[in-house]
Amino acid sequence: MFDDIELRHLRRCVELAAEALEKGDEPFGSVLVAADGTVLAEDHNRVAGGDQTRHPEFELARWAAVNMTPEDRAKATVFTSGEHCPMCSAAHGWVGLGRIVYAASSAQLVDWLAELGVAAAPVAPLPIQQVAPNVVVKGPAPELAEEIRALHHRFHEERNTARPT
Ligand SMILES: [Zn+2]
Repeated sequence: MFDDIELRHLRRCVELAAEALEKGDEPFGSVLVAADGTVLAEDHNRVAGGDQTRHPEFELARWAAVNMTPEDRAKATVFTSGEHCPMCSAAHGWVGLGRIVYAASSAQLVDWLAELGVAAAPVAPLPIQQVAPNVVVKGPAPELAEEIRALHHRFHEERNTARPT
């Protein structure tokens, strides 16, 4: 179960994902929260420019490496609309960030994209703890699943409509 504060941060991640979608990007958003509850940084996907590594979780891990002490990183939490991919799980583990709370799992995303006939990603959808075994992980949040699924549907349906024939 999620408390009100966790749900508030997860809802902000979903808002950021919707913002990404409005800008023509894949709908993913993430928030980095300090031990005292302060929101330190937030970001959304920025892969539309052609760099497929511009995931928000990766950006937040780099932000944390530059701006936080190792002690503060270990106590911080990353909230995210979709479970970290292996690249982002690795970055999270390497910079020594703390807990991850996600709204939708990679397994859910794989199912949703399969429904839409989207080709499989070039990176295996491994759970976070298979990549970064010491990270404490919480998710998914069933109360947000339908909203996130709808964002991914919108992204891929708009793409299919826009695709030149
Ligand atoms: Zn990622």
